[in-house]
Amino acid sequence: MPKTMRAMVLHEQGSPLQYEEISVPEPGPAQVLVQISTCAVCRTDLHVVDGDLTEPKLPLVLGHEIVGRVVATGGGVDDLSVGDRVGVPWLGWTCGECTYCRSGQENLCDAARFTGYHLDGGYAEYTAADHRYAFPIPDPFGDVEAAPLLCAGLIGYRTLRMAERSLAREPRRIGIYGFGAAAHLIAQVIVHQGHAVYAFTRPGDTDGQRFARSLGAAWAGGSDQPSPAELDAALLFAPVGALVPKALRDVGKGGVVVSGGIHMSDIPSFPYRDLWEERQIRSVANLTREDALEFLEIAPRVPVRTTTVAYPLERANEALDDLRAGRLEGAAVLEIGGG
Ligand SMILES: [Zn+2]
Ligand SMILES: [Zn+2]
Repeated sequence: MPKTMRAMVLHEQGSPLQYEEISVPEPGPAQVLVQISTCAVCRTDLHVVDGDLTEPKLPLVLGHEIVGRVVATGGGVDDLSVGDRVGVPWLGWTCGECTYCRSGQENLCDAARFTGYHLDGGYAEYTAADHRYAFPIPDPFGDVEAAPLLCAGLIGYRTLRMAERSLAREPRRIGIYGFGAAAHLIAQVIVHQGHAVYAFTRPGDTDGQRFARSLGAAWAGGSDQPSPAELDAALLFAPVGALVPKALRDVGKGGVVVSGGIHMSDIPSFPYRDLWEERQIRSVANLTREDALEFLEIAPRVPVRTTTVAYPLERANEALDDLRAGRLEGAAVLEIGGG
């Protein structure tokens, strides 16, 4: 095992990542050492770099959509072996003891630790991960294709699950606001389930609208347009608070608006009339192991196809800039090695 590895390191929020040689982590008890092949770039990484999320460990290796192979195990790991291909997501550690952990809501654990935020993540050649949060990746997916499943896919899936409601209408009409990495994956699941996707992009983003239609969206247009049909649910992936009242006006009675992001600009005030008739606003925080296992089981059956733009590790800053500027179609993925 080498002693050092290449990594992109955040030293200070608001500054670019530094390309450095740092020590390879040692796997502790209950951890596996993963040699990283790919790591996708998530909007949450931008929120960490830009300072919207205020409690990162520093210096920090970002990245929580990691695909790699187990090369060593610490003590007490009986479910994974050297050579296994695994994915490591945002939720990196939970206490297993708090009220939330004991009631199946480990995503809300009081002491949760997050990969690429409290724990060093995947913008590097190796990472040490808790074996409970390292998931076997289904065979059909290559290392590049699989990386965006680990957050964009999982969070998108949890967001969709939170929008479930008992409505007889078939097919259901589901709006997706912000058509990036998460949206392009979950849209395929929704279409596969026989429901209709209404995709709302930045106003004037005709390429994004064409992309949404190519994935089976029944309608695609700008987020400045009212929905052409009354929606059953609205999934928000753009970090734009003004979309919440907009989406509330697009959903019908009993409709659900779910925000899938970790950070959003302030939500403007709106008349109670827009919430009345049992419309709901919800947010999604993190993911559970159950979400991961379910989604990784469904994804190959759809099959979900990921659209990716590859960057070498040392160009991670460029990938972040392209995401910030909305220049990406699909998900940015760092190709790191080992594959
Ligand atoms: Zn807990
Ligand atoms: Zn993420």
